[in-house]
Amino acid sequence: MSDDGTNGGTAERKYSCKECGNTYKHRSSLNNHRRFACGKSPSFKCNLCSSTFSRKFSLRRHIQTEACQTSKHDFPKS
Ligand SMILES: [Zn+2]
Ligand SMILES: [Zn+2]
Repeated sequence: MSDDGTNGGTAERKYSCKECGNTYKHRSSLNNHRRFACGKSPSFKCNLCSSTFSRKFSLRRHIQTEACQTSKHDFPKS
């Protein structure tokens, strides 16, 4: 009867990411990880040049600065 206390080790981190296995104490930390850090998979894609961005702001700036249209789409200047 010595295996009774199991809350002395790593029982603090109970929120684990299913994608990468990282563990966090708070659920908010896990949510933040899932949104911005996990896998660093860019979720915003430019329809014009297929560039991907991890943040919506980056995509908007990419489009607004016409950085994409000048690189992939070589529009003839008339
Ligand atoms: Zn993860
Ligand atoms: Zn683009």
